[in-house]
Amino acid sequence: MEKPAIKITVLGAGISGLSTAYWLARDGFDITVLEAQNEAGGSMITEKKNGFLIDYGSNSGLETTTLVGELVGETGLQKEMVYANETGNKRYILRKNQLHALPTNPIAFLRTKLFSRRAKLRLLAEPFIGKSEEGYYQSISEFVKRRLGREFLDYAINPFVAGVFAGDPDTLSVKSAFPKLYRLEELYGGLIKGMIKGAKERKNIGEQSKQSAKMFSFIGGMQTLPKAIARKLGKRITYNCKVEKIDKSANRYKIFYKHNDLPKEIVSDIVLSTIPAYKAALVFGGFDDQLCRHLNEIYYPPVQVLFLGFRKESIGRALDGFGFLIPKKENRSFLGAIWSSVIFPQRADSNKTAFTLFIGGARSPELFNGDVESLINRVLKEFKEIMNINEDPLFVKEKMWAKAIPQYNLGYIEHERYFEKVEGEFPGLFLSGNYRGGISVGDCIANSEPVYKKIVDFISK
Ligand SMILES: Cc1cc2nc3c(=O)[nH]c(=O)nc-3n(C[C@H](O)[C@H](O)[C@H](O)COP(=O)(O)OP(=O)(O)OC[C@H]3O[C@@H](n4cnc5c(N)ncnc54)[C@H](O)[C@@H]3O)c2cc1C
Repeated sequence: MEKPAIKITVLGAGISGLSTAYWLARDGFDITVLEAQNEAGGSMITEKKNGFLIDYGSNSGLETTTLVGELVGETGLQKEMVYANETGNKRYILRKNQLHALPTNPIAFLRTKLFSRRAKLRLLAEPFIGKSEEGYYQSISEFVKRRLGREFLDYAINPFVAGVFAGDPDTLSVKSAFPKLYRLEELYGGLIKGMIKGAKERKNIGEQSKQSAKMFSFIGGMQTLPKAIARKLGKRITYNCKVEKIDKSANRYKIFYKHNDLPKEIVSDIVLSTIPAYKAALVFGGFDDQLCRHLNEIYYPPVQVLFLGFRKESIGRALDGFGFLIPKKENRSFLGAIWSSVIFPQRADSNKTAFTLFIGGARSPELFNGDVESLINRVLKEFKEIMNINEDPLFVKEKMWAKAIPQYNLGYIEHERYFEKVEGEFPGLFLSGNYRGGISVGDCIANSEPVYKKIVDFISK
């Protein structure tokens, strides 16, 4: 199909930018993607070394949208895609030096020692607790404490929030960060009632809840997907391109960037920015002061990823789950560990076991103020104790994400409203990426579709 001569430039070749760029290119539009790194993927980075497969960013995705399967199919990755081992359904929480499986059914819930009898009885009150006032300015802590009680906050939600956002439940906005959870109260008046009714609703519209969606990855790790989309985009992507500034000139945008350190510029009718908010703040510096302030105010806490490989025989406990999370109350030096090669056996040779640990996050960014080497040694010691491991690891790899995951904190809605206002005021400018609409890989893909549709609508007007 012949398309009007409209130039579209996408900033960033992470999964958000790639998904939208791919759909636009498939429709025949003139697309250029500018990526600062020398490869595609952004927060999806995989490395293969010494018989281990290391995912330094996302370790898996949840198939919450059919768009994942479509992208996998269209990029020819069907045979590469793998689903998590069923053992991975079991998730542990640390309490008093013991790992307790998170109960997944009412009988297990009654039996578990993770929660006291009092905490279990407290849950019975949940359906009778009324609605709250304002979810955007209510933290997930306040929400859960009110509906489910203090202990449930400390031993279920606190570690869960660390596992998803590397976040602090006292500062994350319940409605911005967990819109579906808040919706259960808003729409149905409670979580238990909402879960029952919501399941029926989802079935009708063919949507998967995060609890029931299948966990996926690829034989070659998570970066397989962005790399495959990038191959489809081919020469439309230019790597080693750091966008520095954008000016608005008449109805078009002038993009200034450095390609292999050489200054370049390009004029575009449409700009889709998918780079992290704090980077976008630099790029849009001369554009609108308020926009920069909003972008800069989105907090990205530091997270250190520690990948450990052990001999299988050295592990002194059953490897029968996804891994474990640690509540803040347990006062440990890390957030939790994924048992990577249990979930996806391709992560290590058959006689070895791979784990991925997460340190820091919004809950304890101060950990990095001190000596990082002694922090790593402390984490290793604690991990070996919890797992009953009697040997040192065969293989250790680390990656520090100085600014890891955007936090949808209290007041985030003001940023979101401002982004919408800016998009209205600057025709042809679109802001996307994981600081809008969800941070998970599945959410980034799902949210890239309305962005793609908005761009197509804009062009056809
Ligand atoms: C440690 C960690 C663990 C995670 N674990 C999971 C998980 O298990 N499951 C899950 O679903 N999600 C997970 N996530 C979240 C998920 O991976 C990300 O939210 C998602 O990949 C973000 O994609 P994106 O395209 O929006 O942004 P990014 O991946 O950040 O991509 C942005 C791109 O823009 C480029 N860029 C930046 N500045 C410029 C510039 N000036 N010019 C040009 N290009 C630029 C960057 O190089 C990058 O490639 C994790 C994230 C991290 C950091």
